[in-house]
Amino acid sequence: MSRYRSTSVHLLGGCNASSDPSQGVCNPSGQVFDTKSHNSVHPGLYVCDASLIPCSLGINPCLSIATVAEHVSRNLVSDVLKYKSDKGMILVNNLGDAKPGSITSVKLDSHLKSMVVVKETMRGYVGGMPCTAYLKMQMNSRTRKELDRKSRLHGLSHPLLRGQVGGYVLFNAVETDKLHIVDGEVDLCEVDERTPYTQYMHYTLLLAASSGSRYILQGKKVLNPYLFGSFAWSQTMTMNVTFNKVCIDSSKEDMLNLKGKLSISMIELLKCLVSLEGNMKRRFVGVLLQNLFRTYISQVPRGNHRDFNPSEFHQKPYPESILHEIQTVINKIRKLHGPLIKIHVVAHCAGGLAIHIALMGGHVSATHIASLSCTNSSMFFKLTTSSKVKMWLPLIPMSMVILGKNKILPMFKTSKASSRQRLLKSIARLVPRYERCTCDECEVLSGIFGNPFWHDNISPSMHYWLNKQNLPRLPMAGFPHLRKICNAGFIVDSNGNNSYLIHPERMALPTLYISGGRTFLVTPQTTFLASNYMKLHHPDFRHERVVVDGFGHSDLLIGEESYKKVFPHIISHIGLAEQGKNYALGNERRRHNTEALAWGGDPLEEGNRGFWGCISPLVTIWLLFLFLVMVVYIFH
Ligand SMILES: [Zn+2]
Repeated sequence: MSRYRSTSVHLLGGCNASSDPSQGVCNPSGQVFDTKSHNSVHPGLYVCDASLIPCSLGINPCLSIATVAEHVSRNLVSDVLKYKSDKGMILVNNLGDAKPGSITSVKLDSHLKSMVVVKETMRGYVGGMPCTAYLKMQMNSRTRKELDRKSRLHGLSHPLLRGQVGGYVLFNAVETDKLHIVDGEVDLCEVDERTPYTQYMHYTLLLAASSGSRYILQGKKVLNPYLFGSFAWSQTMTMNVTFNKVCIDSSKEDMLNLKGKLSISMIELLKCLVSLEGNMKRRFVGVLLQNLFRTYISQVPRGNHRDFNPSEFHQKPYPESILHEIQTVINKIRKLHGPLIKIHVVAHCAGGLAIHIALMGGHVSATHIASLSCTNSSMFFKLTTSSKVKMWLPLIPMSMVILGKNKILPMFKTSKASSRQRLLKSIARLVPRYERCTCDECEVLSGIFGNPFWHDNISPSMHYWLNKQNLPRLPMAGFPHLRKICNAGFIVDSNGNNSYLIHPERMALPTLYISGGRTFLVTPQTTFLASNYMKLHHPDFRHERVVVDGFGHSDLLIGEESYKKVFPHIISHIGLAEQGKNYALGNERRRHNTEALAWGGDPLEEGNRGFWGCISPLVTIWLLFLFLVMVVYIFH
């Protein structure tokens, strides 16, 4: 190693620095040469210790090592700052006027001086294991997002509500040490193009463990301005979290995908407000209150959402009268493909009700059906609280009176409507709902039905097609019957009598019932009851039931991600039926028998929301405001 004869008992060299890549491992700044390309280095890889010194010094090398380390770290710091400013994370003033060699002379943008520091502690469970996040957020500091084209297009939230996050996370089940936040961003009032009324608090944290592993924690609080069944308080306090391990190669055993909830307690919130730092804290609280007011009370949409049109919309002719009676359709198929043909039925919502009515009512024989898959529909119809309230109110009989003889409601804003129809549409616009939309047709339809889908699950093209192309007229004549079914909770005939459930023997076929886990209109109990009913009456057949997380009602079939989260269940059900696997085997039959009688509790049903759930949401919101205003006045 040494060209000299001097000796040292200290270990030196190994990665010696050199200006020539053929003579050393690192350049004079400690950056490791990339041997694959001439004169280049591995970005971000530094050697910063005694191994840089190429040979023995003959004296105690302690001070030399310290000097080398300081020399390398100076380059390292300026590199990191340059990288961050390139990525738009921090804008650094020109380093030229800094005293040479002095790291403290690095000046931050004057913009950063007027920041607000928020300290927040959130506790909860991720993947069923306790987890605590101690966050220190510097609001009003620039984040990567500003460079993001999408957020620029749809209206950024106030700079005071965006910032960088530091601190650490304790998650002992995964790593015994602290997980330090090496890079974190927060946006307290993000708005999605598709949901302009709803605000999201977004946290994205890159965590580093002393073991060398890296994790990404993403948290989202949804501030949804819906009126009935609103849980504004718990929404604002609770963050839905995903926790993933960063893997270089995605081999299965290395993967870690956990979900959970973290929330801030009342005391922690108080502490957080008291410990606000920075000269703009009053302004910060003001802006935050203003945003909460806009979301929950004045309900003003944000951003430029007027043109919720898809850019790549393909205009296709759509047949006017697509609706036929199920019986006619099945007969037609049998006529075309021979009487032995069997049909796989995939039905949604009222379509599912219809096929059940057709089967149990004896209009169609189960021998013609190979398999039945239903999304959010069955012989049962269990509504969410808000839909229930709406069904109890005499809204439908009133609508019928308003409409008079002509029960067909024109849907498009441009189409001609009588004064009665216009009146009904304006009433529909006033009905409270979970999510608001800037599209008029969407507003009328969700007022009449309740929201059929979560907007963030639907692509802009699908939204456009549904509201501007698909449904020119809404036939309202069937609504009184639908109301009777909803109020009964199961299929009844148009007089409200139970005349279908008495013929379960006619349902001899394999079934699959799918519910959305993020409920809209109907709850997962709908499919729970249907599946149990089938297991009870036809334990010999294969019966499956799936609750898909994150989906609401019609987005199960038409959602942007349905093809990978919902359709595979249907395809597998059809595939098994094609292979003749329609019958339950010994064990499965026994399981069916036990499950069929467990009518009581649905293991997949969402829990009771407790006290705050039964208080009127508007009261909750006003209480929250009063509380925040009081805190600000007392402590500032
Ligand atoms: Zn909409």
